[in-house]
Amino acid sequence: MVFYSTRSEKLTAGSARAVLTGIAPDGGLYTPLDFESMRVDIQKLLPLDSAQLFAEVIAGILPDFGEDAIRRLVPEAYSCKFETEDLTPLTKVGGAYVLELFRGPTSAFKDVALSVLPRLISLAREQQRINEEILILTATSGDTGKAALEGFRDVPGTRIIVFYPEGGVSDTQQMQMVTQQGGNVRVCAVKGNFDDAQTGVKQIYADDSASGWAKAAGARLSSANSINIGRLAPQAAYYFKAYCDLVRAGAIENGEKINFAVPTGNFGNILAGEFARRMGLPIEKLICASNANNVLTDFINTGVYDRRRPFFRTASPSMDILVSSNLERYLLLAGGSFGLVDTLMRELREKGCYRVPDPVMVKMRGHFSAGWADDGMALETIGRVWREHKYLLDPHTAVAWNVMEQFNARGGNGLKTVVLSTASPYKFSRDVLSAVSEKRPVTGFEAMKLLRDVTGVPIPSNLAGLNGLKPRFTDCVDKTQMLAYVKEALKG
Ligand SMILES: *Cc1c(COP(=O)(O)O)cnc(C)c1O
Repeated sequence: MVFYSTRSEKLTAGSARAVLTGIAPDGGLYTPLDFESMRVDIQKLLPLDSAQLFAEVIAGILPDFGEDAIRRLVPEAYSCKFETEDLTPLTKVGGAYVLELFRGPTSAFKDVALSVLPRLISLAREQQRINEEILILTATSGDTGKAALEGFRDVPGTRIIVFYPEGGVSDTQQMQMVTQQGGNVRVCAVKGNFDDAQTGVKQIYADDSASGWAKAAGARLSSANSINIGRLAPQAAYYFKAYCDLVRAGAIENGEKINFAVPTGNFGNILAGEFARRMGLPIEKLICASNANNVLTDFINTGVYDRRRPFFRTASPSMDILVSSNLERYLLLAGGSFGLVDTLMRELREKGCYRVPDPVMVKMRGHFSAGWADDGMALETIGRVWREHKYLLDPHTAVAWNVMEQFNARGGNGLKTVVLSTASPYKFSRDVLSAVSEKRPVTGFEAMKLLRDVTGVPIPSNLAGLNGLKPRFTDCVDKTQMLAYVKEALKG
C-alpha cells in the first residue's frame, strides 16, 4: 500500500514507515488513495468472530505488513482486554442502535485503536530492522493518555511518556493515569494547560529532528495520536462490525444502506467511517455531531472553516477542539488535489480560516450531515433516554444522539442509524448523575457509587478498582522543563 502525504504527491511511505513516523516530513498526514484495492466483501465477514473481522479489515488497509502477521497480531492485541468477547457490542435503543466502543481496558473508544497500534509499531520496528527503542511521547487532555499507556504497557521495544496538564483532567482520569502499571511507562504533570503540554511535545520532536539526541541515546521518537494511520485502520473495522451485526440479527439485508451518527472532535472517528464507505460499506450519511465548539457544523453547512471563535470547556471535553487534524485527509479524498490541501492548510495557519471550492462542498454535503448540541441539550438527552429506554449515555454519546434526533426531525432519510458510543457514562459520573437524579455528590467516587445506586448499571471494573490505589507517578514539571525531563528519562 502506498500512503501519500496529504500535501505532496512526492512524499510517500509504505505501511511500516507511515505507522512508525506518524506524520509526513512536510507536516501532511499519510493517507491511502487506492480504496479499490481495499474493498471488503461483507458476505465473507459475516461468519467471522469480532477479532477475526477486525483483522480482515485492518489487513486490507495495511496489506504490506503481511496478512498472516496481521491475522496473528490483532486477536492477540484484543485478547482478554475487553469486557466482552464481542469487543464492540451493538445494542438496540428505541428506534436506533448504539455501538458500544467503550468496553476496553480504559472505558473509552480510543482503546479499540490503541490496543492494536503498539503492536503495529513493534512489528514495523522489526520489519524496518530498527535497533533503537521506540519512545512514544503523548500530551493528553484525558482519554488518549490512559488508553495509550495501557496499550503500550510492556510492549517489547517501546517506551511511553505521557504529559497531562496539572489540574486540567478529571479526578478519575488523573487517577487512571498516575496508577498505571508497566515497566516501560512514565506519567508526568505539566504546569500549564493542554495546549502548553501539546506545544511542549511538538517542540521536543522538533529539537530531536534538529540535533538527533534520541538516536544517540538509543531511541527513536514516535507518536500515538490520531494522525497516525495505524489508529484509523482499527477504527474503520468497527463500522463493518456494526453492519455485520445488523445483517446477522436480520435488522437489515446485506446491501441496505444505513447512517452512522458520530461524536466528533479531531475528525478521526468519523473519517474512519468515510474509509469504510470507500471500502464498500453501504453508508448513506455520516452524521457529524459537535458540542458548542461547532466549527465542523459550520464547515459542513457553509464550506467555510473558521477557527477564529471562542473556545468552550464543555461536559464532553474530548470534543473540545477547534482544529480537527484529520479533516485534512478528507479534503484530499474529496478534493483530489495535493496542491489544494497544501493551500488550504497554509490559509488555516496564516489566516485561521479557509473556504473549499464548490465541487468539494457538494461532495461533502453528500457524505455528511452536521449538527451540534450544547451541554444543556446533551444532559437533557441523557435524562430523557434514561427515562424512556433505561439506557445510560455518556455526554459525548448524548451529543451524537441529540444530533441524530435533529436529523430525523428535519425529515431524515428513513434509514436505520447506528450511534457510536465513545465513553462509559462512569468516566463522567458527576454530569451524568445530575442528568438522571437530584443527588449532588462531593467526590468523583461518591458520584460513581450514587450513579450505580440510581441506575443499577454496573461500574466498569477498571474504574471501580481505582478507589484506594496508590499513585505510582507524582512527577510534575514546568512547561519549559519537558525536554529536560525526556532526556533524563532516556538515561534511566
Ligand atoms: C476522542 C474522543 C472523541 C472524538 O473522537 P475524534 O476521533 O477526535 O473525532 C469522542 N468521544 C470521546 C469519549 C473521545 O475520547
